[in-house]
Amino acid sequence: MAEAVPNKNVISSSSKKRPNPDVTNQEDDFNCKKQITKPALEDPAWALANGRRIFGEHGGVNMSIETSATFTVMEPETLTRMFAGELGPDRDFFIYSRHFNPTVLNLSRQIAAMEGTEAAYCTSSGMSAISSVLLQLVSSGDHIVASPTLYGGTHALLTHFLPRKSNIKTSFVNIQDLKKVKEAIVEGHTKVLFFESISNPTLTVANIPELSRIAHEKGVTVVVDNTFAPMVISPARLGADVVVHSITKYISGGGDIIAGAVCGSASLVNSMMDLHQGSLMLLGPTMNVKVAFDLSQRIPHLGLRMKEHCHRALVYAQRMKNMGLKVIYPGLDDHPDHHLLKSISNKDYGYGGMLCLDMGTQARANKLMDLLQNDTKFGLMAVSLGYYETLMSCSGSSTSSELNEMEQALAGISPGLVRMSTGYTGTLEQRWSQFQKAALKLL
Ligand SMILES: *Cc1c(COP(=O)(O)O)cnc(C)c1O
Repeated sequence: MAEAVPNKNVISSSSKKRPNPDVTNQEDDFNCKKQITKPALEDPAWALANGRRIFGEHGGVNMSIETSATFTVMEPETLTRMFAGELGPDRDFFIYSRHFNPTVLNLSRQIAAMEGTEAAYCTSSGMSAISSVLLQLVSSGDHIVASPTLYGGTHALLTHFLPRKSNIKTSFVNIQDLKKVKEAIVEGHTKVLFFESISNPTLTVANIPELSRIAHEKGVTVVVDNTFAPMVISPARLGADVVVHSITKYISGGGDIIAGAVCGSASLVNSMMDLHQGSLMLLGPTMNVKVAFDLSQRIPHLGLRMKEHCHRALVYAQRMKNMGLKVIYPGLDDHPDHHLLKSISNKDYGYGGMLCLDMGTQARANKLMDLLQNDTKFGLMAVSLGYYETLMSCSGSSTSSELNEMEQALAGISPGLVRMSTGYTGTLEQRWSQFQKAALKLL
């Protein structure tokens, strides 16, 4: 008796043919070379709502979870055509879930819409997104120019791992100094300019339009880590070629998942999935399908969450400053990058949810965090960010400890720097009184 093999067209039609009067842009955007030109796409919320809406197989309001590792076909020729690259995920043909998976692809489309890139693909961590895209764009003997103020893991990857394992060398240049960046780029040799939109942990803001212009003049690809500012800043809309995320942070928001994404052109994402040369395909940092579904459910309220993170950070920063504390927050007009951030950020989100307090010494920083967690219950001592509770860490001795003393000084990290990821639980006044009570004991 013949096995009932599902017909490809039947599988795809249930989600694709369901009418959706609210959505104007129903065509498949993956693999499509059409440029996004509508000015309204400048807004990430608009772009997310205008994206392709996927329904569940039985008409569920949510997409179905495709938990298959492998996919069946009707005719043997179809497999040949899929492996030759003639039939792909844009036409609902899937080979194997380390390559494309429908559920992970749907989440990836949401992330691409948010960032305004032609395509995106999600990975199992932020570090795997960063390392995979760099290995795709840069080969042995090539050169990278990067900001010295980077997430500790990225800094270690560029300083130690890539030079040793693959002879890829990085020059670290203060990206506030555009002339120095220009001088550091060696035409033909430098392949990537890498920096963070808002830097970790010192909260300097990158002049993305100018840096992109300088890089593009010399044929260099601009890769921006936008982990600190999803929705707030859209690097690709400002000229960057590739945007990477640690989804672990704000995009997830639950402090429960490790995940990442690479956003860029369809040709970049396809090259990373190439069966013979693709870094995602061959190194295999695949996102779990169930994780992709969970994350997809959190994207619709990312904008709301970011607004509240940003609002609380601004109010706390202003009040901390009024108390005489040394606070670093790009939303304050005394921050050197305040006007730059205002000019490049998306309207109505704010200035980011991260702020730093410089307590001078590590001892005072530790005392403050101890009081804030164990006495007044303002927040939690933990690394990471983007959680609904406030998280605090002393950067020099934690997330930036991969940098030695000199590198920390170069990156502007004082030993008493307390990094705060402001949460939004509790009422603002309740949380503020908890902060004030602890801080007053130290003043
Ligand atoms: C956390 C973080 C990363 C690494 O992401 P993981 O998801 O932990 O692998 C990269 N860049 C920045 C700015 C981060 O904060």
